[in-house]
Amino acid sequence: MTINNSNVTTKKLRHLLRNTTSHWVGNGFPVRSLFTYSEIGPQISPFLLFDYAGPANFPPTEKRLGVGEHPHRGFETVTIVYDGEVEHRDSSGGGGKIGPGDVQWMTAASGIVHEEFHGQDYARKGGPFEMVQLWINLPSQYKMSQPRYQSIVNSQIPVAPLPGDHGAVRVIAGEFNGIKGPAQTFSPIQVWDMRTASGQTVDLKLTAGHSAVLAVLKGSVSIIDTGSIGEAEVAIFDQQGDHIRFKSEQDTTALLLSGQPLGEPIVGSGPFVMNTADEIRQAKMDYLSGKMGQLVS
Ligand code: MN
Repeated sequence: MTINNSNVTTKKLRHLLRNTTSHWVGNGFPVRSLFTYSEIGPQISPFLLFDYAGPANFPPTEKRLGVGEHPHRGFETVTIVYDGEVEHRDSSGGGGKIGPGDVQWMTAASGIVHEEFHGQDYARKGGPFEMVQLWINLPSQYKMSQPRYQSIVNSQIPVAPLPGDHGAVRVIAGEFNGIKGPAQTFSPIQVWDMRTASGQTVDLKLTAGHSAVLAVLKGSVSIIDTGSIGEAEVAIFDQQGDHIRFKSEQDTTALLLSGQPLGEPIVGSGPFVMNTADEIRQAKMDYLSGKMGQLVS
């Protein structure tokens, strides 16, 4: 008997992004931007930006390392900590400290100002630091809604085994094999933090018509007919098709991002991402006139 596979189609690899240049965000985050919306926005929608900070080693210090007060409007910032600690405080009253395995899901929406620093306990001890910050776009109808802050700790994130014990998926947002992640989102999104074992082939069922991005943080994978994709490299797949398949060449840590494309214009400037140039001008005025609030010291 043959199995009818006619409904299974593979998402084709569209781009391989390899960004080796690094810049500092404030004095705390040595960042490689693995993708930004400026070139490939519609393909990766609703994802806008992927900043990979570290891995780096910081010596002990009494100084506050990080980035001081700055605004955001029109999207969400999602911070995933692998090593070290990040402290955040924002003008909507949100705040907290997150450590390894924890996630901070901040909805800037109509506007916040915030600061992001290394946690004080971590800073005093020093040591390895590694985190990811994603920017995820909001549908236009939610861009001016109330800011929101979700602190998601490691123990709230379910771990789903990959079929055949080929690894595991921490389901941060969306659903994997019926297991739901804790993040509340404004459009259908999958954020899966994956560990895959060396030598294993991984086949992931995704949604036809949704964007799909695989970012390798540690280790390496190969995708059919392609060379290796290693540390800090990103594979961007076609929205058509409903599967991706890759082979782990080493024990690998990778983030899989997938979502329903918003299909709306993306107009951004610095910390603001809206739909029109007028809305960007308004965002700048609103920030300068204090309408995004301020941090209470
Ligand atoms: Mn920020």
